[in-house]
Amino acid sequence: MGNEKQFVQEITPKSQDFSEWYVDVVRKAELADYTTIKGCMVIKPYGFALWENIRDALDKRIKATGHQNAYFPLFVPESLLKKEAAHVEGFAPEVAWVTHGGNEPLEERLAIRPTSEAIICSIYAKWVQSYRDLPILINQWANVVRWEKVTRLFLRTTEFLWQEGHTCHRTMDEAQEETLKMLRVYQEFAETELAMPVIPGQKTDNEKFPGALYTYTIEAMMGDGKALQAGTSHNLGQHFSKMFEIMFEDEDHVRKYVWQTSWGVSTRLVGGVIMTHGDDHGLILPPRIAPTQVIVVPIFQAATREAVVAKAGELKEHLAKICRCEIDARDQYTPGWKFNEYELRGVPVRLELGPKDLAKEQCVLVRRDTREKIFCPLTELENRIPALLEQIQKDMLARARAYREENTRTVANYDEFRQVMEEKRGFIFAPWCGNGECELKVKEDTKATIRCLPLDNENRVIEAREGVCVRCGAPAKYNVYFARAY
Ligand SMILES: [Zn+2]
Repeated sequence: MGNEKQFVQEITPKSQDFSEWYVDVVRKAELADYTTIKGCMVIKPYGFALWENIRDALDKRIKATGHQNAYFPLFVPESLLKKEAAHVEGFAPEVAWVTHGGNEPLEERLAIRPTSEAIICSIYAKWVQSYRDLPILINQWANVVRWEKVTRLFLRTTEFLWQEGHTCHRTMDEAQEETLKMLRVYQEFAETELAMPVIPGQKTDNEKFPGALYTYTIEAMMGDGKALQAGTSHNLGQHFSKMFEIMFEDEDHVRKYVWQTSWGVSTRLVGGVIMTHGDDHGLILPPRIAPTQVIVVPIFQAATREAVVAKAGELKEHLAKICRCEIDARDQYTPGWKFNEYELRGVPVRLELGPKDLAKEQCVLVRRDTREKIFCPLTELENRIPALLEQIQKDMLARARAYREENTRTVANYDEFRQVMEEKRGFIFAPWCGNGECELKVKEDTKATIRCLPLDNENRVIEAREGVCVRCGAPAKYNVYFARAY
């Protein structure tokens, strides 16, 4: 038991230091680790299995909405990256450059993609000729590189994995419809699969993607009250198609520029899952994306080992047909050590089977999220496990939603705003005048940014009917969410 205690003590309590807690969990649960390359992480097998489940769940939705996957080059010639002015200005400080091929200096520097608009647009320009070639609905799963000064495992790393959708349309309306469709796909995916409630909304001009007409976002609240931008969808308008000459001959024989969108989520979602659900014992993974959903832990002495392990193995084989089930029958670790280990790793359900359980034809199920113990007859396992996993998934979303509600506040004035942001964090829902300089002043004072202008059910930004801006007192245009963010 001494061993156990020491094990748990290695994780900094969440309430004591959230960011230490986060790093402890990521490393000790063996999701990822730092490497000798500054800002780059290694995603370990357990972390990668989690990412694969996240990826597959989203990939299904991307395909179900009519998109296909493709793959484009890693390198972007400098001249292409520089074509769209706002775009290059936005990314210039974080671009990594390739200057040599072997020992030969290159005639033109190559950027390692920080995002792929430039390279993909140059290729689309060749693919699109007629209105019959539209729409182009393509997604890419890839790595990108952004030279970050301050990094954090999964949340901000120099190289990361993501998907980026890039589409071309005949009209502005179609592009706008696509932008919002994918925003809602992200929302449904985050809430259903990650049990992570999000607020869909529009970014302000200060916060939008370099080169976009409009940027939409899903914003989640982490366990320390800070916001995480969990996914973005951009209506690029014709900014890129004009620079890259992506033109089509329309039905009326007039040559026109296409309307474009791009949208993406990244491995940062893994960080989001950890920070939304985890506790002082470690990870709590939503069943739908957990690499292992049920861990079977046989409890035995030398005399009972054979019978207990045999039955536990049988149960595991049986359950593996209906869920992702593993068994840990290793002799060199105590059951207590194993309980801690799988709690740390966030496995949703632990199934304990000891000699007494065996005699009674039952087992003990322990929920990771509530740590509740449930006695279950072995004959009922097949029905109980899927229902329990579903219940845990639902309860996790409900708990995260309740936490967000509790930590979303309104304030009477700017003094209170500053105080809340300093002492409690969370989201502040407040009226804003619509002025970008006023927004920047708030950031200067409080480190809080406008996370989004929320949308109504018809995807329209909700305008304020009354009230005055929380900072400057001018008539309010919108009610918006403010928060400090990752
Ligand atoms: Zn204002």
